[in-house]
Amino acid sequence: MSATTVGILGGGQLARMLALSGAPLGLRFLVMDTSGDACAGQFAPLLVGDYRDEAALAEFADKVDVATFDFENVPAESAQWLAERVPVFPNPGALALTQDRLAEKTLFRELDIPVPDFADVPTRTALDEAVARIGTPCILKTRRLGYDGKGQFRIKSPADVDAAWDALGAQASSVGLILEGFVAFQRELSVVAVRGRDGEFRAWPLTENWHVDGVLSASLAPARVDASLHATAMSHARAIAERLGYVGVFALELFCRDGELLANELAPRVHNSGHWTIEGSETSQFQNHLRAVLGLPLGDTAVRGVACMLNWIGEMPDPTAMLSTAGGHWHDYGKQPRAGRKVGHATLRADEAEALAQRLADVGEALGRQAQVAPVVARLREA
Ligand code: AMP
Repeated sequence: MSATTVGILGGGQLARMLALSGAPLGLRFLVMDTSGDACAGQFAPLLVGDYRDEAALAEFADKVDVATFDFENVPAESAQWLAERVPVFPNPGALALTQDRLAEKTLFRELDIPVPDFADVPTRTALDEAVARIGTPCILKTRRLGYDGKGQFRIKSPADVDAAWDALGAQASSVGLILEGFVAFQRELSVVAVRGRDGEFRAWPLTENWHVDGVLSASLAPARVDASLHATAMSHARAIAERLGYVGVFALELFCRDGELLANELAPRVHNSGHWTIEGSETSQFQNHLRAVLGLPLGDTAVRGVACMLNWIGEMPDPTAMLSTAGGHWHDYGKQPRAGRKVGHATLRADEAEALAQRLADVGEALGRQAQVAPVVARLREA
């Protein structure tokens, strides 16, 4: 029997980690990306082409047994075109929905999942009306193609509306705009979950996340939350997955305000806040995504102790301190350094909270990253 080839649209670090985790299953990969430099290409054959180029897509479809994504902004029509030729997971309908913040929030509301106040903003007049209704502070975001805080403008008072429109108004007719009430949350949480082809649903424990300038900086798992909040988050994730007929791993990002969960967005792919599962769980999100899309039994999502993931943005720090710490694991994505770019991460694991807090504080100090680890250490040491 010839080996199964998994095709991945998008060749960044997520595709790279998928390929690495698929090797023990004997899988082959083909990665498609618009750049010949895509870092997954260091581990898997890389097909360079535009996602809208039918000849390139046809070549891709011809060579793979199943296709999936490492980023959500693959054109929905390309995903659909591909799905007519080869099994594609998650399904193109789910992908299309998560590409539009307005459609996504509308679905959450339909499923009785609380969301921040929001309004569609097709025109400048609509923006004025939305700001008057929702109030300030609020955030104007592009409906499509935004990520990691890009395509967002914070409106602190009505005096900022002109500046917000100057910054994003030109995109109202192309990618669309949405206004959201600003949520004064105490915590950001995410559910990373997986649903198999047979409908089986499994989730890793809730993760708490800290962002800097809209980009994930640190994650802690399991999040230190009470059982009822945990159960609510899981039931939201499950409801969404079932409604979408979702297959594969996804992340549901949530704000926690005064004990209430509000859904922010759904990422239809393996997720940065699930990287800790590589060492911190019995089965990683990458392995379970592959099992799901291939129709294999899903792996156990139980945690191994407590884990903290730290993102490396712009350039890699010196690995020595992390590598010489018990429970320290290093991931260098093999990318060129560039301001704002996710170039790697580390996961630090321990069997219990205080041991992790101590290791984190020590490594943070050695790396000069005290500010990055401080909120995680503080959370671990809360009574
Ligand atoms: P997003 O691209 O929507 O995930 O936004 C990136 C980050 O901006 C989030 O993780 C939050 O830290 C912050 N953010 C986004 N939307 C809101 C909101 N409605 N209220 C408060 N903070 C937000």
